[in-house]
Amino acid sequence: MKIGVLVCNKMTYDCTGIGCFKAFEDRRDAFSIYQDAKLLAFFHCNGCNKPLFEGMDYKFEQLKRSGVDTLHMARCIEVECHRYDEIKLTLEDKGFQVVKGSHS
Ligand code: SF4
Repeated sequence: MKIGVLVCNKMTYDCTGIGCFKAFEDRRDAFSIYQDAKLLAFFHCNGCNKPLFEGMDYKFEQLKRSGVDTLHMARCIEVECHRYDEIKLTLEDKGFQVVKGSHS
């Protein structure tokens, strides 16, 4: 299985992503469901006041070409985002399975 993590645009200025990567490496928290998964992508939305994924179809195509079919909505989105459901539905509409969370 090949997975990706969607993170909050705002948090990319403050965070290296190490919490997500360590949790994946340890297969804990939201990643405890995997025994044999590859984390291939780590990306963010367009930002709060912009259309969330406008112009990002090439990224979704890139993910699909690489076999990524599951996207985690990272902990920072759970905490920060008032558009959580909108993001989740958009990713599902694009054909991805969506998993809530990353690290605790
Ligand atoms: S829309 Fe949500 S995920 Fe995107 S930058 Fe804003 S708070 Fe973060």
